[in-house]
Amino acid sequence: MHISVIGTGYVGLVTGACFAEFGLHVTCMDTDAKRIGWLEKGEVPFFEPGLAELVRKGIKENRLFFTTDLTKAVEEALVIFIAVGTPPREDGSADLSYVEQVGAGIGRHMKSYKVIATKSTVPVGTGDRIREVVKRNQAADCRFDMVSNPEFLREGSAIEDFLRPNRVVIGADSDQAVAIMKDLYRPLYLIETPFVITDIASAEMIKYASNAFLATKISFINEIANLCEKVGADVQVVAKGMGLDRRIGPKFLHAGPGFGGSCFPKDLAALVQIGERAGETMEIATKAILVNERQRERMVAKIRESLGTIKGKTLALLGLSFKPNTNDLRESPALWLAERLLQEGATVRAHDPEGLEEACKGLPALVPCKDAYDAAKGADALLLLTEWNEFRNLELDRMKGLLRRPLFIDLRNVYEPERLAAAGFRYISVGRPPRGPIPSA
Ligand code: NAD
Repeated sequence: MHISVIGTGYVGLVTGACFAEFGLHVTCMDTDAKRIGWLEKGEVPFFEPGLAELVRKGIKENRLFFTTDLTKAVEEALVIFIAVGTPPREDGSADLSYVEQVGAGIGRHMKSYKVIATKSTVPVGTGDRIREVVKRNQAADCRFDMVSNPEFLREGSAIEDFLRPNRVVIGADSDQAVAIMKDLYRPLYLIETPFVITDIASAEMIKYASNAFLATKISFINEIANLCEKVGADVQVVAKGMGLDRRIGPKFLHAGPGFGGSCFPKDLAALVQIGERAGETMEIATKAILVNERQRERMVAKIRESLGTIKGKTLALLGLSFKPNTNDLRESPALWLAERLLQEGATVRAHDPEGLEEACKGLPALVPCKDAYDAAKGADALLLLTEWNEFRNLELDRMKGLLRRPLFIDLRNVYEPERLAAAGFRYISVGRPPRGPIPSA
């Protein structure tokens, strides 16, 4: 079967490469000619573990093709996935202009029956909206079906998430479209992946409700962490105790600087907007956003309190991407903190395994460092902001020798406080009491 994927970002490219791996003939289309040029040569323009190998395999085996030509992408495909961005507008609502552009283009070029499947995260009602746009632009009179097929992959483990998802959601109002979609995902049926087959509106809502719930879980544990600090409890133990209850589960209960990335902040804001338009206030989602914003400020206060003052200090920052195993800097709490510390007059020496170059383009005042030890040279404190594996087992004695003062601020709770205190560090983390001797100024 021939399919095409419009948009070759994190979601589109992973979708295309993985469907090619399933044995389908896939055309990936993007308006970004530079990006398509790289992809044709098997070069992936962002960091995602395993993706470059899969793309090269798809190209070599003649199942994966790239183009900037929408006509080509539409003509051959039975199923067309829309995977373009839906960034937030000023008021938080999702900007659907890219999705609509694609819908209009599909309408203009289609000459036979198509299934148009939305992978982009879009507000409830968008399926109907795209259907209208396609109809308005149709040059030839042919039937098509709309499907909502939201994507749940996580950057950093996107391939594994796509090939072994917890569930596949298909929202449609046509049996033919459901049958075609099921056929596409047949390899997942074989591994007994649960399928949720529903109407388009419910499928669209499942995506927002899932992301809002996960983001709320993070804000919840961050509030508990802040309370733990006040009452002398340890949030790591509290989260463990909570997470062992199967009704709660251990995931997304890690206290830290708050959530970021290209999805949670934007999708929460969009859900609040959807609620407002429908006359139904989303109180919990609204508060989850507020708590997240406050958490970042709390981290600044924590750093300031540990140092006395930020101005004039040299800080070693470990991690800039919004989470490990990706170079995605969108809405990264680490990048936000880096910018804020610079604004407050600190010298910021930073290292990130994949995101450093891009971060320095946006924040030229950052001092790029080749690794964690290079960053630590002469710094007043070490700040662990993104928990990349290479920061999980630092040589503490070596680190201590490089820092001006043995102050370790771990905003991801990666280290055992006792171990750091025993190594002679003042150790500050989130939701746990500080440990170790206070270093002299
Ligand atoms: P992205 O910004 O990485 O990629 C979007 C791509 O679409 C870009 O390459 C851009 O050039 C291309 N594009 C824009 N307009 C186009 C057009 N008219 N025709 C062809 N290509 C066009 O975005 P992303 O992170 O892959 O996200 C895409 C969608 O998937 C969003 O709605 C997002 O919310 C959703 N989503 C993202 C993730 C994630 O982890 N990134 C996970 C699940 C869902």
